[in-house]
Amino acid sequence: MPLPLLGVTDGRDLATATTDPRNTVRAFHLDATKRRATMPLALVAEDDPELRDLIAFKLRHIGYEVITAANGPAALAAATQRPDLALLDVRMPGVSGLEVCRRLRASPDTAELPIIMISADADVRAGLDAGADDYILKPFSPRELSRRVDTLMYRRAGHHGYTAAARSSTTTSGSGMRILMVSPPGAGKGTQGTLVASHFDIPHIATGDLLREHVAHRTPLGQAVQQRLQRGELVPDTIVLDMVREAVLTALHDHGGYVLDGVPRTMAQARGLYHLGCELGAINNVVLHLKADDAELVRRMLARAAIEHRTDDTEAVIRRRLALYHEVTEPLLDWYAQRGILVSVDAMPPAEQVGREILITLEAMRPLINLVPETSRRPVNLTGLRAA
Ligand code: AMP
Repeated sequence: MPLPLLGVTDGRDLATATTDPRNTVRAFHLDATKRRATMPLALVAEDDPELRDLIAFKLRHIGYEVITAANGPAALAAATQRPDLALLDVRMPGVSGLEVCRRLRASPDTAELPIIMISADADVRAGLDAGADDYILKPFSPRELSRRVDTLMYRRAGHHGYTAAARSSTTTSGSGMRILMVSPPGAGKGTQGTLVASHFDIPHIATGDLLREHVAHRTPLGQAVQQRLQRGELVPDTIVLDMVREAVLTALHDHGGYVLDGVPRTMAQARGLYHLGCELGAINNVVLHLKADDAELVRRMLARAAIEHRTDDTEAVIRRRLALYHEVTEPLLDWYAQRGILVSVDAMPPAEQVGREILITLEAMRPLINLVPETSRRPVNLTGLRAA
């Protein structure tokens, strides 16, 4: 019995392999580019060997195959391998990273290549002027690197989908509504957030719920924040922002919008969300504020405590959470009001009435939101928040 043979070819000698009568098996056409369907290829051009290795290591860790180059000419040569992403150091021997970037942009094969410049402070502008999509400042952590890569690839991949989703939102879908809920505890954020999310067909992301889930599942994050939740204290900003970032990326990609409930609660969080919005080209466009008297809020939370058995619904904790809200969170509303995106609603009436009012107001705003393109929104200086 003849030995079964599998011919592996890049296509050129396909005919020979299949017409050889001794071969019992057809040739198998191995397309080198297929590999990239599962492993995207990144080009790292960096002359500092230590940094180059670190970047390559991190990129492999997040699923990239990596080719490296230690100077400009090597980077240009490597770019012919059609990478899916390039990280270029601004300063490199031979041809500078800036020049490499310009040449890649000028060539039809690489004109659209996502490029991140690796730079020292002074070179940032030059990198973007040369055509880079983004930059990363030295020194940076591996985590920061994967974030920048993530964000850029998301923007590139999701861009068309996002625009299409935003356009279609003038008809039926709610995509394009990026709503923050800033309200005191007990005002009905959960109820109204769910209503708004289902009305606009966008996910409802509640930081309190996400944190309680972590606690319930005893994840490391849950264990780290459990006590703070029980005492009614705020969880550190970085934890909240990291958690929200993931959820926002997914929501934007899948639905083009979201209701973010329970964040921001501090100035640092407001700033973090703003920067995230700038990075993604998707700044939040509505801040929904539910307003109610403290006495009513305490009454509602005590009533809820009897039903839900939340560990942070004792009267002492409730009062601490309210005090924190007035002291740390409420001042943020002024800033959102100045930006013209604040919607304040009286949350004292019954929930159905409040819900109706919210939906009517948001529906009235929706055409406007979708007609104002992202790019023509004015940048907002968040440093003003410090004075708030
Ligand atoms: P909530 O369900 O929104 O009332 O949140 C319950 C608890 O989760 C709060 O009392 C805080 O301990 C914590 N938490 C929720 N969101 C945040 C946030 N944005 N920043 C800090 N802590 C938060």
